[in-house]
Amino acid sequence: MKKLFKIIILSVNVLLLSSCNSHKDVQDSTKYMLVIHGGAGTIEKKFMTPEKEEAYTLALTAALQKGYEQIKAGKTSLDAVEAAINVLEDCPLFNAGRGAVFTHDGKNELDASIMDGKTLKAGAVAGVTTIKNPINAARAVMEKSTHVMMIGRGAELFAMENGCDTASAAYFFTQERWDQLQRTKREEETGRAAYTESEIRANRIAGISELDKKFGTVGAVALDKMGNLAAGTSTGGMTNKRYGRVGDSPIIGGGTYCNNQTAGISCTGWGEFYIREVAAHRVSSLIELKKMSVEQAVKQVIDEIGKMGGDGGIISLDKSGNVAMEFNTSGMYRGTVDEHGKISVHIYK
Ligand code: ASP
Repeated sequence: MKKLFKIIILSVNVLLLSSCNSHKDVQDSTKYMLVIHGGAGTIEKKFMTPEKEEAYTLALTAALQKGYEQIKAGKTSLDAVEAAINVLEDCPLFNAGRGAVFTHDGKNELDASIMDGKTLKAGAVAGVTTIKNPINAARAVMEKSTHVMMIGRGAELFAMENGCDTASAAYFFTQERWDQLQRTKREEETGRAAYTESEIRANRIAGISELDKKFGTVGAVALDKMGNLAAGTSTGGMTNKRYGRVGDSPIIGGGTYCNNQTAGISCTGWGEFYIREVAAHRVSSLIELKKMSVEQAVKQVIDEIGKMGGDGGIISLDKSGNVAMEFNTSGMYRGTVDEHGKISVHIYK
């Protein structure tokens, strides 16, 4: 009888233990379908008004929702990436499309790139000033030309010929970005910091867009029902940029990379460092050659960028639905949607 009692207790324990383990497994194996970022930088709660925080949260949520709808309807990861980025490009809060930062000459020069993890096809545009949604132009380059990258007027003509919407300079204008350019120029001329902490506090300025000359870029990585990955990035680049400066965002391997065998990657941050690190491709290489998880690979690349003197963030998603979102700044606008449609949005560390 005693023996039977012992066996029963033991079995109950084993059952309890295994149910705990399986619960953990379920939690750990959450499959993410879409991950997005809206830029990394000096984003601190003390600089953020509740209204701005809500506006950012709503915009990120809308982008995730739009992308998820594509995947749910059986469309491709490329469709999801494009749809999510379009929402962020159309929102003046982010440094992409409408709301892009200004160049030294007071123009908005936009860069974008997209990559298909299944075929390793890619498309990019740089320095376009009249295309409403540069990510659509990047996709057109990928799908409708034999090239990977087009710049300036040529890219604009190609995009128009292939049905991309155009927009006037007035469409891209936002007062906040314009003021940011004026302050940055003032800083350059006088050698004095453009913003004092009290100035920022007094104005209750919303972190990223006012404190940093760069950042606010948008990006997305998606995994569709066919098991294919896609990644894309879109940006206005860096405030006060000159001489046709192009950052990492439209550079395949720099700001964007995607391979079904490893992961999809989109970067944001000080572009010069991301180019020199070949950041997005390095994440993929660490996964492929060092057998790292997306999380380990992204962490290592962010650490290496930090050691070089750069800053920013990286998002990544692999073919099993594992996600990584890392940054070495005080915040990064970011979010995920899982296979059940559950949306999570985060801003601070
Ligand atoms: N990486 C972009 C660039 O350097 C800026 C950003 O991520 O916001 O152009």
